[in-house]
Amino acid sequence: MSDAAVHTGSQMKLYGCPTCGRVSQLLRPPAGDAPLLCPRCATPLHHRRPRSLQRTWAYLIAASILYIPANLLPIMSTSNVFEGETLHTILGGIEELRHGGDWMLALIVFIASIAVPLLKIGALLVLAITAQRRSRWKQVERAQLYRMIEAVGHWSMLDVFVVVLLVGTIRFGALGGVMPEPGLLAFGAVVVLTMLAAGSFDPRLIWPEEEDKDRPS
Ligand SMILES: [Zn+2]
Repeated sequence: MSDAAVHTGSQMKLYGCPTCGRVSQLLRPPAGDAPLLCPRCATPLHHRRPRSLQRTWAYLIAASILYIPANLLPIMSTSNVFEGETLHTILGGIEELRHGGDWMLALIVFIASIAVPLLKIGALLVLAITAQRRSRWKQVERAQLYRMIEAVGHWSMLDVFVVVLLVGTIRFGALGGVMPEPGLLAFGAVVVLTMLAAGSFDPRLIWPEEEDKDRPS
């Protein structure tokens, strides 16, 4: 079969419902501004997720910016009557664990809170840049990368859990206390923003079509 004989879903006006999976064919455009809805479950139908790349970029840029304060600002402060207040950053916490001989825990905290978010942001950047340039470079590998990010996404809250674990390893004296600091807020925002960036990316953009050029979303 030659390329000219291949009909795409958008050429045939076919829409797949992302919620119930029903495929509908639109024979006439909907009247006025009426949104196109799935006849079975009324979910709005689109050929591509609307403004997928713009949303992905917005979340991704915000996550990259917040990654800096998440690692530089203290995530918590501890206090006791003898030493006064001490501020702790994620990197400082890892160093303390390593110093105390907890190699395994230091490694887990490093992977979950420094390496994984950075790799996730990097992988999403690769997907967003190549989709933006309508690149046909390594499409199958990029689809695998997308599936990997999705799989890691289920474990995203692990990062936050590890920080909680880190709080637990700090020994308190009598009359001691622990307070969250701005770094923890930035850290939680990075986790949520990378999840939103991955969720906004439409994997269909890995396979651009000629006709997509004049389609806004
Ligand atoms: Zn449906």
